[in-house]
Amino acid sequence: MSTQNKIALITGGSRGLGKNSAIALAKKGIDVVLTYNTNKEEADKVVSEIESLGRKAFALQLNTSDTKNFDDFINKVTAHLKEKTGSPNFDFLINNAGIGLYQPFEDVTEEQMDEIYNIHYKGVFFLTQKALPFLNTGGGIVNISSGLTRITMPGSSVYGSLKAAVETLTRYLAKELGPRKIRVNVVAPGAIETDFGGGRVKDNKELNAQIAGFTALGRVGLPDDIGGVVAFLCSDESYWINGQKIEVSGGQAL
Ligand code: NAP
Repeated sequence: MSTQNKIALITGGSRGLGKNSAIALAKKGIDVVLTYNTNKEEADKVVSEIESLGRKAFALQLNTSDTKNFDDFINKVTAHLKEKTGSPNFDFLINNAGIGLYQPFEDVTEEQMDEIYNIHYKGVFFLTQKALPFLNTGGGIVNISSGLTRITMPGSSVYGSLKAAVETLTRYLAKELGPRKIRVNVVAPGAIETDFGGGRVKDNKELNAQIAGFTALGRVGLPDDIGGVVAFLCSDESYWINGQKIEVSGGQAL
């Protein structure tokens, strides 16, 4: 990676919205370090696609629920960057990785709560903390939340409320990191056709039609609807947007 290029680290870049965002970032001229949890093969394909766009990319394994490994992970990322660019630093962190949980409130178990908490809140919190010493002045953080913090759908009480916690965390980070000129924002996608939650929005025709029916633009989202917004928040054009949530849902349940 050459020093003049900005660099983004994105979690969960092997599939879905993370993959789309990684490619959109590359199209904006940003080099990308992406993580995968289990799908190395898919992550390698994303790396190749970014390289074919003329940008640099590198994929590393990371389980974002496993905070014990964060030091080791950050060491690997920064050692790689130091070797390739002469500096361990990077410019943007996109906290995207995640899984779904659809469980009626009465049936939620402590194990399920812990898993969602570890991935969607604790992991985001501590990965950001560990990444911070290496984030360049003038860089940014984008946290991926969900339309389910504003819209309620039965079965998403744990997921929706922990995503809401990330939105509040985002505002605190924007305030605390302001002196370092690091901007922190949230992208909250509506329901999007990915593998997320077992691919239920993509594969369950009834649910897909139901969501399309209460969406102003008349369909559910596609990965291409999201990546460009993440990339925009990592561009100079958005330099004055800070501490904000942008819902990207085509106008769901307005
Ligand atoms: P996806 O297609 O299922 O992809 C999930 C990505 O996260 C994959 O790259 C996966 O890695 C990674 N991942 C899963 N568990 C992980 C873990 N424990 N540690 C590290 N990485 C992990 O899902 P998506 O739709 O792109 O979702 C991305 C983000 O958008 C999530 O935060 C989700 O909550 C949010 N979101 C999604 C929707 C939607 O409708 N799709 C709507 C609103 C918000 P592997 O491929 O290696 O397993």
